[in-house]
Amino acid sequence: MENSFGSMHYNAIGPYLQKQFGCRVAKLAIDGGFTCPNRDGTKGFGGCIYCSADGGGHFASNIPDQMKLLSGKWTNSKYIAYFQSYSNTFAPVDMLRQKYEEALAFPDVAGLAIATRPDCLPAEVIELLSELSQRTYLWVELGLQSIKDATALRINRGYPLTVFDDAMDRLNRAGIRTVVHLIFGLPGESHQDMMGSVRYVADIKPFGVKFHQLYFMEGTRIVQLYPECLPGMEMGEYISLVADSIEILPQEITIHRIAGDPPAKGLIAPRWSLDKRSVLNAIQMEFKRRGSFQGSRTDIYQ
Ligand code: SF4
Repeated sequence: MENSFGSMHYNAIGPYLQKQFGCRVAKLAIDGGFTCPNRDGTKGFGGCIYCSADGGGHFASNIPDQMKLLSGKWTNSKYIAYFQSYSNTFAPVDMLRQKYEEALAFPDVAGLAIATRPDCLPAEVIELLSELSQRTYLWVELGLQSIKDATALRINRGYPLTVFDDAMDRLNRAGIRTVVHLIFGLPGESHQDMMGSVRYVADIKPFGVKFHQLYFMEGTRIVQLYPECLPGMEMGEYISLVADSIEILPQEITIHRIAGDPPAKGLIAPRWSLDKRSVLNAIQMEFKRRGSFQGSRTDIYQ
């Protein structure tokens, strides 16, 4: 097998979209004003124990503001409107349609990325997403984090793996692209557990995957519940895990994120998360040192 990704060593979503669209494609992180059923009591209370008050949308705002931020930096680019904060399919379907259509009406918005939970995808929502994906570039992002149900209970994720499997099956049948999120360093998880989740993702072959290190933000329940997990994973261990993971992923899976990007304000640990450039460089160096790349070790678990 050959490295088709040059110095990146993996199928990064940026270059992938540039090839598809023939220009640079930027994501606009949007707070669509949704909430989360794992917080308001519909599915659970308190939310996932690591989730901060903004529901994961640290840098999310609205489309005009996000476009302004990028203008001058990039010219002749297109945009994917990324509904990031909380659960972006958790509303009546008419309201969802209105919000998605509003985003698509902006000039140069060429697609939608919609982050949600697998238990927030009733048939009418899948139907809407399927309809939209016929005329725009669309993917749905699901926060799996780990395949272990014991871990799901520990982090108060609020659904078992069977719910995720069912949602993936319905999204696949409707022809909708999916991106799966994984978190490394969750309480009680061994290296083997984390690699088990990666192998699972390699088997189900979503459109994309996002890797995050677990981080500890002020005011989140994980800090009180699992103080023994502080200060979190060491940077070297995380880099090695990401490289191990990408090596076993089939080359067609796009990599949307290889490290989380927490805000400095309120971050307790790990502090190395704030130097994202160094983390990304270290991952490139690790691939170089190993002489490996995405898919170079897909055979090890066959
Ligand atoms: S599902 Fe997402 S928004 Fe809801 S509590 Fe968990 S991490 Fe936060």
